Amino acid sequence: MIIRNTNNFITKNFKESEFYSTSPDRPAEHYLNDNLPEIVQHIRDVVGVPIKITSSFRTSAHQYSLFLAGLTSTTKSTHTDGDAIDCKLLQSSEEHLTWIQNQIFERGPFYDDLYALGLRGFGYYDTFIHLDCREGSEFKTWDNRSKAVKERRSQGTTFAPQNFSEDGSHRNPELKSRLLAIGLVYAVFKYL
Ligand SMILES: [Zn+2]
Repeated sequence: MIIRNTNNFITKNFKESEFYSTSPDRPAEHYLNDNLPEIVQHIRDVVGVPIKITSSFRTSAHQYSLFLAGLTSTTKSTHTDGDAIDCKLLQSSEEHLTWIQNQIFERGPFYDDLYALGLRGFGYYDTFIHLDCREGSEFKTWDNRSKAVKERRSQGTTFAPQNFSEDGSHRNPELKSRLLAIGLVYAVFKYL
């Protein structure tokens, strides 16, 4: 999709402007992977807290300045392709973040939801999470958190999101059919 700096809602809770690039030399409009707004909305629906998008599409010049400042290790990223966002859960407790982390690590039903929505990359950082929809079927995760934060989130969590169930019955019909389609693709590959 093409993103501009407007106040139109593109999902239930998110305005188009929230996905607009923060690069200093950002163009008036830019590409963003269609799946990302849906993914962020799903996280908000399940976890139940507002989410602030801290980085979206980045221009090459912006990415290069982050590289020079030592804030990223690459001059090309899924952000420069419009396939990634970074976000922060507002009012979030360690419990929320630990729950999400465990679902991703353990490939729980919430991971299944996000995969069906097109998520293929998940990066852990101390103060934000990175989400991307890179090409292909492989799912990539990495952990750039400090030792202290890692340890804090290695404990169990008592957070149990409402309207979410381990058996997947929280899924809407559209999400259910996407998961079914992915399951069929895997079943076919297995027998090829
Ligand atoms: Zn990122």
